[in-house]
Amino acid sequence: MTQRQPLVIGPLAAAPGTRATGLVPVHLGEGIVVSLPVVVISGAQPGPRVAVTAGIHGAEYVSIAALRQVALSLDPKDVHGELVAVLTASPLAFAARAIYVNPVDGRNLNRQFPGDPAGSPTQRLARWLTDNVIAGSDVFVDMHCGDMNEALVSFTGIEDTGDAAVDARSRELADAYGLRYLLIGPSPGTTTTAAATLGIPAVLAEVGGQGRWPADDVALHAAGFRRLLHAAGLLTNAADEPEAPRFATEVLPTEAWMRSTTTGYWHPAVDVGQRVTRGTVVGEVQDAFGAVLERPEAPIDGVVIFLVSSLAMNQGDPLLALAG
Ligand SMILES: [Zn+2]
Repeated sequence: MTQRQPLVIGPLAAAPGTRATGLVPVHLGEGIVVSLPVVVISGAQPGPRVAVTAGIHGAEYVSIAALRQVALSLDPKDVHGELVAVLTASPLAFAARAIYVNPVDGRNLNRQFPGDPAGSPTQRLARWLTDNVIAGSDVFVDMHCGDMNEALVSFTGIEDTGDAAVDARSRELADAYGLRYLLIGPSPGTTTTAAATLGIPAVLAEVGGQGRWPADDVALHAAGFRRLLHAAGLLTNAADEPEAPRFATEVLPTEAWMRSTTTGYWHPAVDVGQRVTRGTVVGEVQDAFGAVLERPEAPIDGVVIFLVSSLAMNQGDPLLALAG
């Protein structure tokens, strides 16, 4: 039997049966270096490699809090295989409390994958994550939530890659996560699409939002992730598998994002989680003096998956997303 090699990510190295934690420097060009907080665990027993990111969007706190909780509490003696956990994947966005984008270049990190090693700083960060975290894993998980200005109902998302085996495995892993809804891709430029392109089963998981991290939401995200680790084979003691909190997942095959065509003051007329029919007026954007600039109508029957909750609205920004 060959000796298992240490798990190495940047300057971190974990020998079998141990955990290593620390900051991993990533060079983004233009003299910019970010330090990603990373946990690597090499389990006492062989098994799959699971890679996971949180904080791809820097103000999505439930996902960041839940991943820290799980990655730091796992006992390497209980782990079969390897865990690579990037606790906050966009540290400059986290520090700036920035919504949607990485402030260094104004790009949305989760639209840049698989990334470009000669591109802008955010494109280079995407490339580093693709090459060093996603590639080489057997399962990839990307933990998100509604952004600081978004209310959200919990859901998982998977890709429709056309590879039946990969898609079936992603579906099993999403079902294990046990969130309220399941959305099925494609979603170009995202982490999960990058993983799918490499033939790696992948799950996007979203719980909570609005810049808060209440214990109930963190517990829902953490329990789902732990169940996924069991389904992936990284954890094997059934007695440790969280039974709750979880939902019987409902599949919503069609997704429609609604974006503002004007800049002004957003007054939603629907709630997050509400089911609406096609043609329903979902709210209005007003000018500063209350005149209605637009009164957008739902393009499909569906559930309000996320809802922008800020009064400020900019032309081109999302208002909400429907899935049905
Ligand atoms: Zn996000």
